[in-house]
Amino acid sequence: MRTLDRIMIWGAHPDDEIIMGGTIAAQADAGCEVVVVTISRGDAGYCRPAWAQTIADQRREEAAACDRILGISERVFLGWPDQGVRHDWELTRRLIEQLRRHRPQALFTLGPHDRNRDHSAVHEMTDEIVWQAGENILADYGEPYSVPLVFIYHGHEGMGPSIEVDVTPWAARKAEAWLSQTTQVEMLPRIRERMAALARTQQEGGTDTERFVIYPRVVFSDFPALPEGADA
Ligand SMILES: [Zn+2]
Repeated sequence: MRTLDRIMIWGAHPDDEIIMGGTIAAQADAGCEVVVVTISRGDAGYCRPAWAQTIADQRREEAAACDRILGISERVFLGWPDQGVRHDWELTRRLIEQLRRHRPQALFTLGPHDRNRDHSAVHEMTDEIVWQAGENILADYGEPYSVPLVFIYHGHEGMGPSIEVDVTPWAARKAEAWLSQTTQVEMLPRIRERMAALARTQQEGGTDTERFVIYPRVVFSDFPALPEGADA
């Protein structure tokens, strides 16, 4: 896997980034700085009425556990309400500010094929934000920055071309990250068995991959490097 210097992942909710958890752990292990921007508080994600008032704090702690497990260097919480993420000017400016502040080599965003309204909203606003961040405007939100690479990490069914990354050595870490989201684990039947199986992937000779679709706006200045071993 090619290592980048700094990547940024946009998640609508505190655990979205774990979908690409193997890639995050692999990049972090190789010295890449990983910044996660979590847009909402995830406060709609509870399965016990008693948690209604505490869920946002619980998920903040779970996110901190995930950061330690995967090696995420920095997580920014924007504090939007869960199911209230909209393609509006306020959020657009806040995300422009994050891109300009951290200046990642690659941005990972959500895709269009998603039933979750927050996820689709993040996809819908990506194009505008990537464009506006690079323009000589909004001087109070940082110096202009055009992120060279943008990938979709989820909600990209049927889209292509795509890059498939072998993350088998990090599958156990990804499973651990999922299981650290204790309020979410409780909502999902059979997740403990599925994560136990994921954690055993490498020792059982299996493969775990993560798929990324190149965002349509990305312009390569040359043909991208072929994967290692592709010349064999
Ligand atoms: Zn989500």
